[in-house]
Amino acid sequence: MSKLLLLLGDQLDLNHPLFSSLDTSKDHVLMAELADEARYVPHNKHKIAFIFSAMRHVAKALKDKGFTVRYFDYQSTKGRWQSFDDILRHQLAQQPYRQLLLIEPGEHRVKAMFEQWQSDLNLEIKISPASHFFFSNELLKNWFADKRQPRMEHFYRFARQRTRLLMEDNKPVGGKFNFDHDNREPWQANTSVPEPRTFAPDDISAEVLTLVEKEFADNPGDLSQFALAVTAEQAKQALEDFIEKRLPDFGRFQDALSDDNALLFHSLISAYLNVGLLNPREVCEAAIEAYYHGHAPLNAVEGFVRQILGWREYVRGFYWYQGQNYADLNALAARRALPAWFWSAKLNMRCLAKAVDASLEQAYAHHIQRLMVIGSFALLAGLDVKAVCEWYLAVYIDAFEWVELPNTLGMALHADNGRLASKPYAASGRYINKMGDHCKHCIYDVNKMTGAKACPYNALYWQFIHRHQQRFESHPRMALMVSQWRKKSDQQQQAILQWSDKLLDDLEAL
Ligand SMILES: Cc1cc2nc3c(=O)[nH]c(=O)nc-3n(C[C@H](O)[C@H](O)[C@H](O)COP(=O)(O)OP(=O)(O)OC[C@H]3O[C@@H](n4cnc5c(N)ncnc54)[C@H](O)[C@@H]3O)c2cc1C
Ligand code: SF4
Repeated sequence: MSKLLLLLGDQLDLNHPLFSSLDTSKDHVLMAELADEARYVPHNKHKIAFIFSAMRHVAKALKDKGFTVRYFDYQSTKGRWQSFDDILRHQLAQQPYRQLLLIEPGEHRVKAMFEQWQSDLNLEIKISPASHFFFSNELLKNWFADKRQPRMEHFYRFARQRTRLLMEDNKPVGGKFNFDHDNREPWQANTSVPEPRTFAPDDISAEVLTLVEKEFADNPGDLSQFALAVTAEQAKQALEDFIEKRLPDFGRFQDALSDDNALLFHSLISAYLNVGLLNPREVCEAAIEAYYHGHAPLNAVEGFVRQILGWREYVRGFYWYQGQNYADLNALAARRALPAWFWSAKLNMRCLAKAVDASLEQAYAHHIQRLMVIGSFALLAGLDVKAVCEWYLAVYIDAFEWVELPNTLGMALHADNGRLASKPYAASGRYINKMGDHCKHCIYDVNKMTGAKACPYNALYWQFIHRHQQRFESHPRMALMVSQWRKKSDQQQQAILQWSDKLLDDLEAL
């Protein structure tokens, strides 16, 4: 009897060792486009199209190599098989298999399904580690388990030492592990930004785009702009283009905000990494090679490697370590409904409108837009944690729960009371003004605190400090802000609180 490999849409690494263990003459690969996966949140059309197209390309590549792929497209599963469970049981009913092969999933929800199969399917089940990460879940679990406060900076040092990346004679290249200090330049509006490499949809993608436009008509996303890589080869070209044209300036403008460019010098490769079209080691090694060839400075290369070897691996370990209940945390009791403009981008706050618009239309916003523009607003306004997390999971091309949840619930909303990030990323309009040029084009005045023209971040920031002053009065990195708030006169405080209440009462009007 043969083996059946169930391959999920975020497990598209054709170099996974499992493939070489299959006998093409009798083993099968099962892949399916399913309603449960495509609809558990209103995913961006770009995300659905990207995953379906990448899956179809992988199925084709496997077939070309002689594998037998049982591929169920969306039209064939619609109304018949909703979930992985449905399609797997259907396939097992068609013919007997000796062994079911699975790859570690990216969500508690799917892991629970795997565990169910282990207990009630009458066949041998083998679960292999995913290959599009540096470290196995087992190694990450062990690292987290014996730390009192498992912070990313400690993890990153461990990861550098373990992989030997950017290390010479057991020491970090350049004498220190972290060059973040050099990576905080504000945007300079006259800087020209190279356009990223784009890919015209081929016949497979064109068919998928038509399908998604028809079946997911109400979801966010403007598919006329679809230009993503959908194969490993194209993803590699996108990476090479980034290394050549944008990596050299990636570091210094990593935190910058620009009013007329949503991408700046970022890599745009997170989705390729997260579904397995790119391997994180090959990505980091390509960046490090650029440093050794004198093409990119160390602060840019180290900063980039830290995002992938550090943050990406760390949040994955953190997600599994925190367990399923992490999604229910709401330490700051944030329960305010999301304003409708989260789904339309129709608001006057320039920085926020630009970030939300790019998120909805292109399924992309860079890290500072996600954290310090949209995330910080949600934190200050006390927007409902679950609703915000669901929004992030829905709109971004790269959103999978293992990476979205720690970043949103933990880093942006501080709803885990500091398990992930030592302090809340709360900021007034001053930060946004310092890092970019949005404020120059905004109807609000970033220097005003109250009144119809005042930048809403300002009063909301102090209201946030006021609301949580007991919690943060002894916090090493927040106590100063609490004492600054307390130094304001009663009159100043009352004016700010009255104005921020007014803003909170009518967020739709912003
Ligand atoms: C609130 C919030 C939600 C986020 N949700 C997601 C998400 O759903 N999926 C996702 O992949 N990233 C998420 N991130 C992290 C980061 O914003 C994106 O990875 C990045 O913007 C993707 O664009 P890029 O490929 O151009 O990244 P670059 O800026 O070029 O960075 C290079 C790579 O580093 C990795 N990386 C950088 N920061 C992080 C991080 N904090 N966590 C994990 N990996 C990181 C990504 O793989 C990224 O492609 C989120 C961040 C925040 C603040
Ligand atoms: S004034 Fe405030 S709302 Fe307007 S762009 Fe600046 S920070 Fe954003």
